[in-house]
Parts: sequence; C-alpha cells; structure tokens
Amino acid sequence: MKCRTIVITSGKGGVGKTTATANIAAALAQSGYKVVAVDGDVGLRNLDVIMGLENRIVYTLIDVIEGNCRLNQALIRDKRLDSLYMIPTAQSKTKDAVSAEQMEKICADLAPDFDFILIDSPAGIEAGFRNAAAGAAEALVVTTPEVSAVRDADRIIGLLESMGKSPIKLIVNRIRPEMVKRGEMLSVDDVLDILAVDLVGVIPDDKSIITSANSGEPLIFSAATKAGEAFKNISKRICGERVPFMDLFDNDGGVWASIRRFFSKG
Ligand code: ADP
Ligand code: MG
Repeated sequence: MKCRTIVITSGKGGVGKTTATANIAAALAQSGYKVVAVDGDVGLRNLDVIMGLENRIVYTLIDVIEGNCRLNQALIRDKRLDSLYMIPTAQSKTKDAVSAEQMEKICADLAPDFDFILIDSPAGIEAGFRNAAAGAAEALVVTTPEVSAVRDADRIIGLLESMGKSPIKLIVNRIRPEMVKRGEMLSVDDVLDILAVDLVGVIPDDKSIITSANSGEPLIFSAATKAGEAFKNISKRICGERVPFMDLFDNDGGVWASIRRFFSKG
C-alpha cells in the first residue's frame, strides 16, 4: 500500500489535535498498519507525553534536520504495539525551526517504510502550521462544538484547500450529549451546517481522555470507553470502511433512541 500522509490540525488551540493524533495512530497500528506519528508542534512537545514515550527520547526531529543523527535514530518504536512509531520534537526550539522543505523531505524519507504518517501540528492560525502541514497530502481538522472553534476551523479549512490538501475531513471533539439535548451546545449537525467538509468522527467529552493522557496510555490500550471506540471508528473510516456513527446517548430504548441516534453521530 502507498503511504498516506495526514496532518491533524485545527483553527483554535487546545481542541484535541494531539489527543486525536496519538489515539488514531494507535488505533491504525492496532489494525495492523505500520504507522509513524510525527510531532510537528515544535516548541510544545506534547505528543511523546500523551503516547507515554517521553522517557525514550534520545534524538528529535530537530536533530535529524540539524544533521545530528539519522532519521531512523529519531524513530521511537512503541513497545506495546510493534507497528507504532513516533518522532518527537524539541521543546527548546521556536515554531519555525522546521521549514516546509525540511518537513517534506522527512515525510518523503519516511514514506517507503510506513502505511501512515500522521503529523500533529500547531493550530492553523499559529506560526509553524504551514511548515508542519507541508509534507501532508491529506488533513484532519479537529474542532469542538463551540462557535469560536467552528469559526476558526472554517478559516483553516479554506487555508488547507488553498494548500491543495485532499481529502480534508472533520472530527468534532468533546461533544456532551446532555448539553446538546438541552440546546446548550451546538450539535454535530449544527457544526456540519457551517463547515463544508465530510465528517470522519465525533468524540464525546470523556474524562478517560484526561486520565489516559496523564498516564501516557492511548485509550485503545485500556478498558473500552466511548471515546476509545470513537477513535477506533475514525481509524476504520480513514481506511474506507463504512462504520455507522455510534449512539452517544446512553441507555435509551425505543423510538426516541432511534430518533436521537439519527441526530447524534459518534
Ligand atoms: P491540542 O493538541 O489541540 O492543543 P490536546 O489534545 O492537547 O489539544 O487537548 C487539550 C486538552 O483537552 C487536554 O488536556 C486533553 O486531555 C483534553 N481533551 C481533549 N479531548 C478531550 C475529550 N474528548 N474529553 C475530555 N478531555 C479532552
Ligand atoms: Mg497539541
């Protein structure tokens, strides 16, 4: 299979890009694909922590670029899933430490050895976004169901289109079904009415995401959670499988459940 290179980005910061990168990478690897997650958010360096690999870092992406090591020396293999790898970035550098050309070269050099390259990036309005995204053909845009985040996502979708990324798909993160039900939160359909891209998945707001980030255990490694299921479903949809959207409303039987299921995609 030809390697697919996907940047995970957003308009607004803090909406769940790094969480999505780590969990989708792990889910794809669990399905048997050889996956590398690249931390393209230079200066923040979060991906290694969320993946629980921070103690294994010897070299970073910046070392590769500066010629301090070979590319494969910066690759960390996840001991829990042997087809999952990551390349960390450096904390001490500024966001423009990696140029677009350098990122393209890194991706081109990784491509022959992998099925998927997932690039965690800064938010689209920040410096460094264009460089992080340069090596990717495809994009996943993460938004939360807040008006400001959706508005910023719309701008970034335009930017990604002008950069020629295709397909561009949407993840709606941190949905709280009970708030949607009470009309206190935008529904997924509201978000889709505003953004002209295809939905690839919906992640509920789930405290297991916080505990999993703190312990460095991607959700698929622990007991089943709705958020973990949602990430697995996203990885299947990325691979072209038709997976029905999950019902985020708990324990509801009967007609109302099916009506709600129709409106609440997961
Ligand atoms: P970004 O990379 O876009 O800045 P992160 O992935 O670092 O965002 O997530 C920001 C914060 O939100 C983290 O503390 C993370 O644990 C939390 N978070 C992300 N998604 C969810 C979710 N679905 N439910 C609960 N907390 C979440
Ligand atoms: Mg991040």
